Amino acid sequence: MIILKKCSLCDEKSVIYLPYCRREMCKTHFTRMFEKRFRDTVRLGKMISKDDRVAVAVSGGKDSLVLLHSLSKLSEDFPFELVALSIDEGIKGYRKPLIEKAEKECRKLSIEHMTASFEEEAGFRFEDFFVKKKRNPCSYCGTIRRYVLNRIAKRIGADSIATGHHLNDVVQTFLMNIMRNEPFRIGRGGRAKFFVKRIRPLEKTPEREIVKYSRLNGIPASRKRCPYAPMAFREHMRGIVRETEEKYPDTLFRVYSSMKEIEKAMKKQGSSKKTGVCSICGSPTTSGKCKFCTILSESRKVIN
Ligand code: SF4
Repeated sequence: MIILKKCSLCDEKSVIYLPYCRREMCKTHFTRMFEKRFRDTVRLGKMISKDDRVAVAVSGGKDSLVLLHSLSKLSEDFPFELVALSIDEGIKGYRKPLIEKAEKECRKLSIEHMTASFEEEAGFRFEDFFVKKKRNPCSYCGTIRRYVLNRIAKRIGADSIATGHHLNDVVQTFLMNIMRNEPFRIGRGGRAKFFVKRIRPLEKTPEREIVKYSRLNGIPASRKRCPYAPMAFREHMRGIVRETEEKYPDTLFRVYSSMKEIEKAMKKQGSSKKTGVCSICGSPTTSGKCKFCTILSESRKVIN
């Protein structure tokens, strides 16, 4: 016999159990809680100001599409402009269908959509470089994507770049920085002049709640993953974080709170790493040449 669980707040059928607060939630209460947390994260984090131009990084995956829909909803009550940006790395059979999905959602929401490719902005195709290099491409790919996003956002006069990073992502990144002994990456500051402000309105939302929200609200959620993802250190960390959260609910929120405290302390203290500017493009760097320009030089050697 199937026992249907009820919402902890009303008599409706539960659609999700939230172990960190020990509550069953129906569709209405879950959606309300999800949207309130989203609005509060933007408001308390002073992420968006009136009449801002916000560039939303839309990969076409579930996180970025939920972000796009949530920001679009928020802009109905609070005046700011949205532009969607997709970056095409050129990963065969993976990115193109996702970008088509992103375009479709933008049309539905009447949001301008732009696509920039590695080929146009960095001068090489993904496969030409990384397949020849025979190394895990993620750290290179991430650097180029961040650089290109920043460049386009500047070009279109955006006040901020919104990304779909959720609670699991930020906790993974924080722990990875510690495990790699790169604490200076936590709470990095002093780069504001070169980099467009980055905001993460979903940073307090667990990944499984994004999946549930997208299903309940008819937002397409692709399950397709980048073929290179299993090679990344992040994949290992994803497993550790997921297993820990399953065994000890609330771990994600606890790590997030610790991370915020550490960020605050580090910002106050200032970075021990001296930041200079890249001799080629002028972006902030701790060595003579930034990572993006180093990758470009390397790519020319590998491809030619
Ligand atoms: Fe790029 Fe790695 Fe992400 Fe694939 S998983 S899109 S290679 S960063």
